[in-house]
Amino acid sequence: MSIVKKELVPSVIEMMVWTRKIFKQGIRRPGYSADYWAENWVKEQFETMGLQDVTLDPVPVKKWEASNAELKIWMVNEPNELLDIPCFPIPYSKPKNNLEAELCMISDKTSKSGKIAVSELELFKFPVKAIKSYSGVDRYYDPENEFDNMEQTFPFDFEMRALFDRPLKDGIAGFIGILSGYPWETDEYYVPYDAVEGEIPGVYVSRDNGKKILKLIKKGTVRAKLSYKAKISEIISHNITGTLRGISDEWIVIGTHHDGPWNSAVEDASGMVLVLAQAKYWSQVPKEQRPFNLMFLMNCAHMAGGRGAIAFAEKYKELLRKVVVGIHLEHVARDVKSENGKLIPLADPTVRWWFVSRIIPLEETVEEAIIKEDLERSILLPPDGFPPGRDSPPTDGSFYHLEGIPFISFLTAPPYLFDTADTLDKIHQESYEPLTQAVIRIINSLKDHSADELRSLVLSKKERNKIRRKYKMRKENGI
Ligand SMILES: [Zn+2]
Repeated sequence: MSIVKKELVPSVIEMMVWTRKIFKQGIRRPGYSADYWAENWVKEQFETMGLQDVTLDPVPVKKWEASNAELKIWMVNEPNELLDIPCFPIPYSKPKNNLEAELCMISDKTSKSGKIAVSELELFKFPVKAIKSYSGVDRYYDPENEFDNMEQTFPFDFEMRALFDRPLKDGIAGFIGILSGYPWETDEYYVPYDAVEGEIPGVYVSRDNGKKILKLIKKGTVRAKLSYKAKISEIISHNITGTLRGISDEWIVIGTHHDGPWNSAVEDASGMVLVLAQAKYWSQVPKEQRPFNLMFLMNCAHMAGGRGAIAFAEKYKELLRKVVVGIHLEHVARDVKSENGKLIPLADPTVRWWFVSRIIPLEETVEEAIIKEDLERSILLPPDGFPPGRDSPPTDGSFYHLEGIPFISFLTAPPYLFDTADTLDKIHQESYEPLTQAVIRIINSLKDHSADELRSLVLSKKERNKIRRKYKMRKENGI
């Protein structure tokens, strides 16, 4: 019996039909109508596929809605020469009507108190070679030998969080983040999404519009008037679950989040499609051939502090003890290059990150599935320490690691992830079927393992490093 029944795997055509349907509904932030549509549509799909116990669990979430953003700047010696600068309010920042103040650079050494601080923001760039070394497990699949000459642009910068906090210390009245280091012209950057309410107003300005501000600041004293409205309301979003029984009492959870910052094709219509493809596949496989009970999860509120995943972990605490592996699937992304301020989709996928618990048989299972399905540009990463300083993966599935549950969290992080540039052409369609098949292989390969056994095999960072050194020595000495 083949380990993947190819005839039961949804075709890329069907998966793209799902993707387009989700995308065209509109902005899928928590509490927006397109996200409610997504919840009901997923429920319908689960029911049509014959999943049992299809449930919508309510989760209280902070919805953020901003409007009427305006930024005007002028030189104090030319008060009639007003420049209107398009801008986008920073999510969860404090709205203000007509904040008028002098502009300063955030790097200025003189007093910034009461001023609007301007900062140029970058996107973090990292050589893939360095990510590979961070992997700590030496498991990656790079058949074209591209990694050593590749650089990845992340959709965020590690400095940014500190930047949002810093103005408070200096008594700054407002903040303008110029997206100078962005490889395309945009101000629609939906970050941060931790749903922590800011204490000052702030907006993003695109690279080219930012240049106008910087030019004036170089010439002399500049003042600005900043206004926008924003409403934060308590709303109810929902986690959707459905199950299929298998031959074991134990469980595998296959999930992702259903919300996103915009219409967001990659983030995370593509993850929803991966989960739907698993549900459809396993619903057609006879119960005796499902190695475990399967729970399919589409949680809410990734874009509002990850509340959905937290609520899921709380509600299903008991069931999670019997979970052999939690599998979280996010973002089927296409690599891009930039040309004249525009993003151009390329043929290859964005580098794929597979965060996996430090369990050797689990690492081996994932590695084997990646190779079998020829999922080039894949790197296995440890559950903590990447990006540097993290105690869990930078994914919606990070709760598995924090709760001590063996997990696999698949993620790509293209630079356009939180931007309106995340459109249908950014989906790496060619990966839909092989990724689906890789997950099916992983689930089937785990059939002889149990929840307790895998937990007993979790290695510490030190133990894992020891194995890595031995493995390297054996390789170098040709043993
Ligand atoms: Zn996501």
